[in-house]
Amino acid sequence: MSFELPKLNYSYDSLEPYIDAKTMEIHHSKHHGGYTSKLNAAVEGTALSGKSIEEILSNISNYSAGVRNNGGGFYNHVLFWEIMSLKGGGEPSGKLSDALKKNFGSFDKFKEDFSNAAATRFGSGWAWLIKQDDKLVISSTPNQDNPLMDIADVKGIPILALDVCEHAYYLKYQNRRPDYIEAFWNIINWEAVTERFLAG
Ligand code: MN
Repeated sequence: MSFELPKLNYSYDSLEPYIDAKTMEIHHSKHHGGYTSKLNAAVEGTALSGKSIEEILSNISNYSAGVRNNGGGFYNHVLFWEIMSLKGGGEPSGKLSDALKKNFGSFDKFKEDFSNAAATRFGSGWAWLIKQDDKLVISSTPNQDNPLMDIADVKGIPILALDVCEHAYYLKYQNRRPDYIEAFWNIINWEAVTERFLAG
């Protein structure tokens, strides 16, 4: 059983004008497709074959840079596609809304802190909203690392992620990462984030 590149449940142009269709196509088919095939090549015929991605990531310090980069790349993008939607944006409701207010003071403060984590991640990486038992925490990681990895500075279960690698935004936004981050708030699928929050 190998890892499969998931089909998106929306088309490449669905997130326009916030994320352009060409970026989505290259990002999903080439970048995520590449992480998936390289991850499969790295685990094939090894003791990792048949293990879940979560299990591999939780012990990542034992494995090669190829497994770390491509395993992280595989997992992170599965999450990223899922938490965006053409009907996204606005604010969450219910228990997730309550938890954001409890942990950050207000939705606006959460938005500011998450955006800041995304903006200040130097070079390639990701910004995260993580569940740690009853707490919600914001963090960021370099490259394709993530909070499930045993090497992560801040560990937990990711429920929201923003890819700030240049390949995620450069065609449309060039060096204007803050504009891309601001645009992201219009396409967050809060239902999907809430599902992960309640399940995690
Ligand atoms: Mn990416």
